[in-house]
Amino acid sequence: MAGGAGRDGVSHTVFAVSSGAMPAGVAVVRVSGRSARSAIAALAPPLPEPRRAVLRPIGPAGDAIDRGLVLWFPGPHSATGEDVVEFHVHGGRAVVGDLLEALGRLADLRPAEPGEFTRRAVLNGRMDLTEAEAVADMVAAETAMQRRQALRQMGGSLRTRYDGWRTRLLAALAHLEADLDFPDEDLPAGIAAAVAPEVAALAEEITRHLDDGGAAERVRSGVAVAILGPPNAGKSSILNKLARRPAAIVSHIAGTTRDVVEVHLDLAGLAVTLWDTAGLRDDGGDEIEAEGIRRSLERAETADLRLVVLDGAGWPDVPAATAGVLASADLAVWNKADLRGAGSPGGDPPAESKVEPMAGGVPALWVSALTGAGLAELEAALAERAGGLAALAAGLGPTRTRHRAALQDTKAALVRALATAEPELAAEDLRVAATALGRITGRIDVEELLDVVFRDFCIGK
Ligand code: GDP
Repeated sequence: MAGGAGRDGVSHTVFAVSSGAMPAGVAVVRVSGRSARSAIAALAPPLPEPRRAVLRPIGPAGDAIDRGLVLWFPGPHSATGEDVVEFHVHGGRAVVGDLLEALGRLADLRPAEPGEFTRRAVLNGRMDLTEAEAVADMVAAETAMQRRQALRQMGGSLRTRYDGWRTRLLAALAHLEADLDFPDEDLPAGIAAAVAPEVAALAEEITRHLDDGGAAERVRSGVAVAILGPPNAGKSSILNKLARRPAAIVSHIAGTTRDVVEVHLDLAGLAVTLWDTAGLRDDGGDEIEAEGIRRSLERAETADLRLVVLDGAGWPDVPAATAGVLASADLAVWNKADLRGAGSPGGDPPAESKVEPMAGGVPALWVSALTGAGLAELEAALAERAGGLAALAAGLGPTRTRHRAALQDTKAALVRALATAEPELAAEDLRVAATALGRITGRIDVEELLDVVFRDFCIGK
């Protein structure tokens, strides 16, 4: 495959800062393509030994921009599969700015587009699409679990599995086609007996892989927790305490959280997204509030977990509008534990932080967003439930919706192949299955898929 061919078919050499924002101690400027060698010739001659760092002045002849490290990675044994040069210079704006300008003046060199280095790596067969996606996930990883998952995927965990399935599928297809070309009158109609068990086994393995309940996707994008409850129960206050920053507006005027506020947390290494929702008012509120309530309930349905916050001052009464969602909640808290005993209609509530099953069997704890009492227990309870949802991720399910959709197409085609009485149709179904599976790793339709995969990349990667 021709690496890095532009839309006009001309393969340019590209360059970009691959390290982070400036100013920084060190900046890494990467050059990839057939003219990478000439960048060294122009700015830091002579060509060093491959993969050996050398310290020397870097800049146009007689006009050094900085002294830095120069590394030469001749293709195909480089990150992109092309000739690659790295300049490690001081991460100052002027240093990097002047170096980029000097590179831009060289013939055939242009700035890289977002994700272009990884894109070239895929085009040159250095990695497949799932590994490229893992590179993006690795850079975006905020929690240890996300990082570990990205690392495994970058190492080819998904590629090996999907390529393995595809190889077996193609073998079955070849077998079936051979039977079509040299029919044996004794064989039963439909999918050849020799092929059927293998196709059934593949369908079964794919089903099991898909059945991880979305755990791997949850690790990647986070477990969504919707916070629900009546207005003024302290939903926003609890969100802020868990987030350790004021994310939602906390106000004593009922119904101030009209839209859904989102906060990202790291709970025991797992990414969790908390959604603070509009209060569930018994009277429905005004039109905007009614819309907020509608959205809250909608969000609650798509959330992985539902946390209901109740006003402890009203213990043990649950307002009617909240009683409905409480039934499907995973966890509930009585907030404002500090007001405990201050004339609660139900008498003296149980002690703080004790998990007590409420009506309907939902476990509830006592907390106070004001004093912080019980919040550690709440965090632990949330982490436990979120961790339970993600526990299966160790089994490495599909990490993106894109994978899931392609696997479902693959499975559907396999099931059709097993059901049909016509061997020709079965062969066509197996071909469809192989194509759907190949789309995940990029074995087919590569160009068409590149844009989707590289949309989320930043420049210099
Ligand atoms: P939301 O409408 O459910 O989001 O409730 P807010 O978080 O806006 O809180 C409503 C009011 O209750 C505010 O005046 C908060 O300061 C107060 N509040 C929240 N949590 C507590 C708590 O634990 N104890 C006490 N005493 N007041 C609280």
